[in-house]
Amino acid sequence: MSDKPKYGFETRSVHAGAAPDPTTGARAVPIYQTTAYVFDDADHAASLFNLQTYGYIYSRLTNPTVAALEERVASLEGGRGATGCASGHAAQMLAFFALMEPGDEFLAARQLYGGSINQFGRTFAKFGWTVHFVDVDDPENFRRAMTPKCKAIFVESLANPGGVVTDLEAISAIAREAGIPLIVDNTLATPYLCQPFRWGADIIVHSTTKFLSGHGNSMGGMMVDSGRFDWTKSGRYPSLSEPEPAYHGLRFHETFGDLALTVHGHALGLRDLGAAMAPLNAFLTLTGSETLALRMERHVANAQKVAAFLEAHPRVSWVSYAGLKSSPYHALAAKYLPRGAGSVFTFGVKGGYDAGVKVVESCELFSHLANLGDTRSLIIHPASTTHRQLSNEQRTAAGAGADVVRLSIGIESVDDIVADLDQALAKSAAAA
Ligand SMILES: *Cc1c(COP(=O)(O)O)cnc(C)c1O
Repeated sequence: MSDKPKYGFETRSVHAGAAPDPTTGARAVPIYQTTAYVFDDADHAASLFNLQTYGYIYSRLTNPTVAALEERVASLEGGRGATGCASGHAAQMLAFFALMEPGDEFLAARQLYGGSINQFGRTFAKFGWTVHFVDVDDPENFRRAMTPKCKAIFVESLANPGGVVTDLEAISAIAREAGIPLIVDNTLATPYLCQPFRWGADIIVHSTTKFLSGHGNSMGGMMVDSGRFDWTKSGRYPSLSEPEPAYHGLRFHETFGDLALTVHGHALGLRDLGAAMAPLNAFLTLTGSETLALRMERHVANAQKVAAFLEAHPRVSWVSYAGLKSSPYHALAAKYLPRGAGSVFTFGVKGGYDAGVKVVESCELFSHLANLGDTRSLIIHPASTTHRQLSNEQRTAAGAGADVVRLSIGIESVDDIVADLDQALAKSAAAA
C-alpha cells in the first residue's frame, strides 16, 4: 500500500488482473463458465484442499474470471487482496463473518444505504451480532458509543442517499485507538474518487453492482483487505488468529499473513455462506471497470451541472450535493473527493410526498428504479420504495424524508437530463 503502484489508475483499470490467456492467447479475460476443475492426481487434490497449493477446486470457492476481477479491484483500491462475491450485501456479510462471534457488537454510521440498515439491525441480530448506529457527522460519536465488545466500525465514504461525506481520517484514528478495524463501503465514491486505505481504512467493501460494473447489468460484491491489520495482536479475532475448527484447525493469520482475510473470505466465507459471484457477472464487471475513470469523470461533471440547475429551481426547496458550496459537506468533499462528489444525490420537492411521487412519475429520460451507478440517469422516491421498511425517524435520519427525490446522474447529454427534470418539475407544479 505504501509502495506507489507502477502504473497509473487508468492503466490498472484496463490491465490489472488481466493477462492474455496462457493457453489460447485470448486477450479479453475468458468467462470460465465451469463449476469444477480437474486435479492432476490425488496429491494435487490434497494440497489444494489443504490450501498448500494455489489453484482451483470448485467455483463456489474460486473461479479464474472472478479472480481476475479480484486482482483488479484490489489494485485500484491499493489493497493486498480481495474476495469477490454475489452482491454488495454478501461482501458485508463476508467481512463481518470473519470478525464477529455471537455476542459481539460493532458500530455503524446511521447514514447508510437503507439495505445495510436492515441487514445490520435485523438480520445480523439473528447471528447474535449487535449494531450500534451513530450519527457519522461527529466522529466523536464513535468514541462515545464504543464498548469492549465492539469488533469493527462501518461507514460509507460517501453515503447514500443524503450526500454525506464521512471524515475517514478522524474515524480511522478512533478505530485504531480501540484496536479494531475500520470497514468502509466505497460503493458510491469508487476508488477513482476516494481511496479509503489512504485515510486509514482497513477493509473496503463494494457493491460492484453500481459504478464499478457501471452498466446496470450485473450483481456483484467485493471485500478488499488492506493487509495492514494485525489480527493476532489482541486475540479478539479468533477465526483469523486461532486454530479455526471449521477449517481443521488452520490458523489463517499465521499461515497467510497479510492475505489472511482474503483467504478466509474464500476458504470459509464463500465455502460456507455460499454467496459466490457468477463468472459472467465478473466478466461484465471487468469490462465495465475498464472505463471507470472515463465514466466517473462524466458522471460527476453531469451531476455538478444538474445539482446547480436544481438549486436555482423555484420548485426545489433544497439540494443535498457535496459538490455545491451550499453543502455542509463541501469542505470534507474537497479533502476526500477532490475529483468530484459522485453522481448520486437528493433534493427536496416543494409539496412533499405527493409532489415527489409526481416528479418521479413524470420523468421520461430518467428510469424509475431501485439502482444507482448506471450509465443511464435514474430516479427514485426513497420514502415510498428503498426506505419504505424503515421507521419515520430512521428515514429522516438516513436523509430519506417524504419530499426527498434521489437521482443517480448518468452519462447522457447533460442538456437532456436537465430538460427532463425541468418538464417533470413543471408537471408536478401543475398537479399541486
Ligand atoms: C447497493 C448498495 C449496497 C448493496 O449492494 P447489492 O449489490 O445491492 O447487494 C451496499 N451499499 C451501498 C452504498 C449500495 O449502494
